[in-house]
Amino acid sequence: MLILDQQAVTDLLPMRECIDLMVSTLSALARGETILPLRTVVLIPDTNDAFAVMPAYIASPKTMGAKIITVYPGNHGTQYDSHQGAVLLFDPNNGSLAALLDATSVTTIRTAAVSAVATWLLARQSASSLAIVGAGVQAHAHLEAMCAVRPITSLRVWSRTAANAERLIDVARSKFNLDASFAPSCADAVRDADIVCTTTSARAPVLFGEWLTPGTHINAIGASQRSARELDTQCVVRSRLYVDRRESALKEPGDTLVPLEEGAITPDHIVAEIGEVAIGRGEGRRDEREITLFKSLGLAIEDLAAASYVYDAARRAGAGVEVELGGARLEAH
Ligand code: NDP
Repeated sequence: MLILDQQAVTDLLPMRECIDLMVSTLSALARGETILPLRTVVLIPDTNDAFAVMPAYIASPKTMGAKIITVYPGNHGTQYDSHQGAVLLFDPNNGSLAALLDATSVTTIRTAAVSAVATWLLARQSASSLAIVGAGVQAHAHLEAMCAVRPITSLRVWSRTAANAERLIDVARSKFNLDASFAPSCADAVRDADIVCTTTSARAPVLFGEWLTPGTHINAIGASQRSARELDTQCVVRSRLYVDRRESALKEPGDTLVPLEEGAITPDHIVAEIGEVAIGRGEGRRDEREITLFKSLGLAIEDLAAASYVYDAARRAGAGVEVELGGARLEAH
């Protein structure tokens, strides 16, 4: 079994390649070529912490395994990442455990890459002004991902802790040459932005529909549990809603469950899964004034496709640490 740590994953999974990989993976989902049960989430009592198991199978290239991950939002700003765990890749031909990869880095890169796919499919071609809400791990990854798919020239950041926003602004200026500034409120950040990414662990809405400008595209990635929301109901109602997977969007996040329970939307408010748009089965943006919203939940197939790509690259490069775990029948002596 090959062990690949955070540095190896980061080195072997460039954002641009991961974006292409996510297009093919989400297209495979839309064509029915994956097996993807809903994730199992254990909510740790009296906390906002969670432990999740996310299994999946992809038919081509044959990929099988699971991500096992903890989500501890309170780790932000400490020595621990808020998402920690492993992606386990199994050999579908003989059932052997083939690799164990750091899940923090896989999750970071693939989530931003999936938002890039949605942005590539749904944002206006000329979209150049970006607003990022939140300034953690995903905010940094989204900066890179958005710059990969649209001609971004300016960035406004709002985050609860100004010092974190300033760090993101420094990167935007030095690495991406953007005209980047701190917004004193979320409303100021998103006003007139072509693309908005919400990347917070907020439990209550931070983005309100009344602030949205016609033509904006939103990637909302933060809330993945019923008890968490980044978007108010009006934000969802005003937007053409796209998701990574319908089943997840209708069962998991407060962002969609609350408007559904309020009767403000029905399930058919979801226009399409982005994989359906990618293969031409779902309708994308119809005009320059529509507000499009991609609600991301994160899918195990994204983790497995990314992990499998990294595994193949590591085998070619001779990277990682090989460990004999046992399980394969030993030769009788
Ligand atoms: P980090 O812990 O690195 O960052 C969390 C961010 O959320 C910080 O910028 C923090 O602000 C902000 N924040 C926390 N609480 C609040 C609040 N009450 N109101 C406003 N902002 C708040 O996390 P990540 O960047 O790794 O993840 C961000 C979110 O995305 C999480 O909820 C995570 O579960 C989710 N996620 C979703 C994925 C998907 O596939 N859709 C995959 C990975 C993560 P500040 O720093 O200013 O205090």
